[in-house]
Amino acid sequence: MLYGIISDIHGNLEALEAVLQQLTQAQAHICLGDLVGYGPDPNECVRRVRSLPGLVCVAGNHDLASLGKMEISWFNWHARRAIVWTAEQLEPEAREFLESLPETATVEDLTIVHGSLPDPMEYITAPTEALGTFQMMQTPVCLIGHTHVAEYYASAAGRVEHRYLIGGGEVKIEPGSRYIVNCGGVGQPRDGNWMASFGIYDSEKKVIQIRRVPYDIGAVQAKMEEA
Ligand code: ZN
Repeated sequence: MLYGIISDIHGNLEALEAVLQQLTQAQAHICLGDLVGYGPDPNECVRRVRSLPGLVCVAGNHDLASLGKMEISWFNWHARRAIVWTAEQLEPEAREFLESLPETATVEDLTIVHGSLPDPMEYITAPTEALGTFQMMQTPVCLIGHTHVAEYYASAAGRVEHRYLIGGGEVKIEPGSRYIVNCGGVGQPRDGNWMASFGIYDSEKKVIQIRRVPYDIGAVQAKMEEA
């Protein structure tokens, strides 16, 4: 089975469409949350994601905050303003879809969560922060989003290795090792590469590919200024 992996779309329809054009061969899709927040097209992004074949999707912090299910005082000023705007924009169907999202899910040999397993809204930015998730995961691979950085942690024989895949790359799932993989952010990369980031998992070959694709940033900026 070929899975398309997307995360942190953040209402950026141009980036989402550019990524989905690269995923036409995917038979199923995994979305790690933050469909909305920051970007100018929250409703269209929710519509597009919910229509993807074989979709399994979990909630992100911006999704919950836009529904009023999370305290927004700890978000930075820009994020907070965008959340208030997004909450006003969300149509009933989009809201209903976001309300239905679980915090974790399992697909074949993948566990999926927005941030980390001990706390789905917590960031993993270093090997020490990955330990709690390695302890809790029941599958060889846990897919995460939240940091908007393309990277992975591999755990074998009590050692945790951390690698960035900012320009894209591959994670081969080896027997006996466990992996926490972040395929980066679709709509707002924060790893120094402006291109939309996404993943493809081939569950037969046991390989996760991380890829980047350019999109029309100017068009998104114009819509954001307008909004
Ligand atoms: Zn995010």
